[in-house]
Amino acid sequence: LVSRAWKKEPTAVKIGDREIAEGKIFVIAGPCSVESREQILSAAKAVKEMGAHALRGGAFKPRTSPYSFQGLGEEGLKLLAEARSATGLPVVTEVMDGQDIPLVAKYADALQIGARNMQNFTLLKKLGKAGKPVLLKRGFGNTVDEWLAAAEYVALHGNGDVVLVERGIRTFDRTLRFTLDVGAIAYAKQATHLPVIGDPSHPAGDRRFVIPLALAILAAGADGLIVEVHPDPDKALSDAAQQLTFGQFGELMEKARALARAL
Ligand code: PEP
Ligand code: MN
Repeated sequence: LVSRAWKKEPTAVKIGDREIAEGKIFVIAGPCSVESREQILSAAKAVKEMGAHALRGGAFKPRTSPYSFQGLGEEGLKLLAEARSATGLPVVTEVMDGQDIPLVAKYADALQIGARNMQNFTLLKKLGKAGKPVLLKRGFGNTVDEWLAAAEYVALHGNGDVVLVERGIRTFDRTLRFTLDVGAIAYAKQATHLPVIGDPSHPAGDRRFVIPLALAILAAGADGLIVEVHPDPDKALSDAAQQLTFGQFGELMEKARALARAL
C-alpha cells in the first residue's frame, strides 16, 4: 500500500489545516519536551514568526534513564493545545502507548511514533484506527525496508496518512550522536508515495551540526524537517545540547528557503 509500484502519485498528508506534500518544504519545530506554559508558548510564537508550519513538543518522553524527566503527560498536551490556539500552528506530539492514543489524539493534530517504538506492532495496528496522521520515525537499528514495512502496518490497518521520518541510525561511528542516513531519504522518496521528512537534531546531538544536517536532508529530496528549538536550550530538561536557539532557527529557515529555490 505504501509503495510507488502500488500508487505512482505522491501522497499529501494533512496536518491540521496544512499539508505535507511533494514540491514544498514543511517545517515542524519546537522543543524536545513541553516543560512549562511559558516555555511552549514562547517557542511556538518564535517558530511561527520565523515560518514554521507546525509545532512539536513531547508530553510523553521515551527517556533512556527512568530517572530522567518523563514529560508532563496530559498537562503537556493541554499546553500544546493552548499553543495551537495562540499561534494557529498544528501540533505534533509523541504517543508511546496504544492505550494513550485516544487521549493524545484528542489534543494533537498528528501522532509521532518514536524510533524506539517503530516495530511495536500492536501500537502500529492501533494507529490504523487513530483518526490522526502518523509521523513514523525510523528505528535507529532498523533497515529502510523494516521502516517501510512498519508504515505498511499502519496503512493496512486503516490509516494511510503516514509521514516517514529519518532521524539517524547507529553505526560504528559515534562521532555524532547518530549517523544521519541521507541515502535512506533518497531511497524512500523513490520507493514510496508517502511524504518523507528528516530530523537533523537527534543525529547531530549538538546544535553546531543541526543546520548542515538539515540542509543535507533537504538536498537529499525530503519534503520537510522536524527540528528541536528551545527558548533557552542549555536549561532544557531533555536533549539540551542539540536544541537550536531562536536565532539559529531563523538562520536555518533562511538557508532552507534559499536551498529550496535552488533545487
Ligand atoms: C524526539 O523527537 O524527541 C525523540 C525522542 O525522537 P526519537 O524517537 O527519534 O529518538
Ligand atoms: Mn528529543
